[in-house]
Amino acid sequence: MNSIKNEVWSKCLSFIKDNIQPQAFKTWFEPIEAVKLANNVLSIQVPSKFFYEWLEEHYVSLLKSVLVQQLGPDARLVYVIKMENTFGNKQPFTESIPSNHRDSIKPQDVSAPMTSRSHELKNPFIIPGIRNLQIESQLNPNYNFDNFLEGDANRLARSAGLAVSNKPGGTSFNPLLIFGGVGLGKTHLVHAIGVEIKDKYPEKTVLYISAEKFTQQYIESVKKNSRNDFIHFYQVIDILIIDDVQFLSGKSGTQDVFFHIFNHLHQNGKQVILTSDKAPVDMQDIEQRLLSRFKWGLSAELQSPDFETRVSIIKNKLFRDGVNIEDNIIEYVAKNIKTNIRELEGAIISLIAQSSFNKMEITIQLAQEIVNKFVKNTKREVSIDYIQKVVSEYFQMDVSTLQSKTRKRHIVQARQLAMYFAKKFTKASLASIGSQIGKRDHATVLHACKTVDNLSFTDKQFRKYVEDLNQKLTI
Ligand code: ADP
Ligand code: MG
Repeated sequence: MNSIKNEVWSKCLSFIKDNIQPQAFKTWFEPIEAVKLANNVLSIQVPSKFFYEWLEEHYVSLLKSVLVQQLGPDARLVYVIKMENTFGNKQPFTESIPSNHRDSIKPQDVSAPMTSRSHELKNPFIIPGIRNLQIESQLNPNYNFDNFLEGDANRLARSAGLAVSNKPGGTSFNPLLIFGGVGLGKTHLVHAIGVEIKDKYPEKTVLYISAEKFTQQYIESVKKNSRNDFIHFYQVIDILIIDDVQFLSGKSGTQDVFFHIFNHLHQNGKQVILTSDKAPVDMQDIEQRLLSRFKWGLSAELQSPDFETRVSIIKNKLFRDGVNIEDNIIEYVAKNIKTNIRELEGAIISLIAQSSFNKMEITIQLAQEIVNKFVKNTKREVSIDYIQKVVSEYFQMDVSTLQSKTRKRHIVQARQLAMYFAKKFTKASLASIGSQIGKRDHATVLHACKTVDNLSFTDKQFRKYVEDLNQKLTI
């Protein structure tokens, strides 16, 4: 029996060997062992679930045809998956999945005695000796926990980060996904986690990489025909940190390779840390199977910091830079820049730079000027609805009046001004502006814009309207 099983499998192997690249054969087929053959069902043992997924995805039709060739049309394949014993499980874990009749497999099909050898099985993905290579972590030591100030807005994410640092791979926060808007500290926090882990566990391999760079590397590896090396490299990392995973959206090849790397690391108790500008539910063009993995661990949001935290962040920064600024100025900046810590820091840096270049004192006026620049630059596009609301209020009429068909002069003027500002402040087309402001056509909007231009030249009162409204809409 035993010999038949081995004979069948070795015939399969020699056929497979003739049909795929030698390197692929070595990587994916040599580590396989035939463990059982009964009733045309061949059970093969693979080293991990990742391995099984890879075979299913890339070689299933080859396996199928070769088995049918050897065992006839009723041939079936059962995978027996052995997990490396890295979870501290006492019991070896077995699982079987048939490659074709997925539904017909019964629990009793689970086979394979493989207790004793589970410790010796070599992980086929680790290139011998690679552990001796020093992998540069790409961590920035300036981003650490000491200077990542705590507040209500980041408490959960920060403490999850600390928990992960204490026990990488050993908490249920795996993966740990930190999400939140631009400039709220995602990159800082994940570096801090990496730095802390390196500090506590110097022997662990930590790698920080942006999703963008990861994608470039992957594309490069495909070009150079070294996709397997790319995968191998990532599979030996103990703590993998990937920043801005939203960048992977729509990139199915990179998502695919990341999926396999993720599975491998996760199964082996390695820690994965991710950041994204969106919650998993809001991510677009990311494959479902990957999204579902993102949700396995913990998703923690970084929200906009409250006023006190903003003040402390500024003070902390000034303290580290050895600069002194009066409290009322710090508070002014903190009050006016609310949603982006990078801008908050940017404003403070400009303030210090301006005052030292021009040998000026840091005054509240200077702070106002600088804050205005920051706030204006980052202003969101105003909406057509908002423009109609501001114009109607200014002329003390309802929005419905502004949109009505009436030809009364002051109403026509208000409507034309709304159209003019919609053209000026939004990217909407003339047609779209027309349809939103009283269902007019694009020619009417064009006419309105010309009229406003002309009138603001010739009519002083009208020019005042334009200036007032312009100011209201740009504050
Ligand atoms: P993101 O990656 O979310 O866009 P970053 O991590 O680049 O944001 O953070 C932007 C800036 O704000 C960085 O200079 C960072 O040091 C600072 N920052 C963010 N959160 C904090 C915090 N809680 N304490 C101190 N500095 C912070
Ligand atoms: Mg970032």
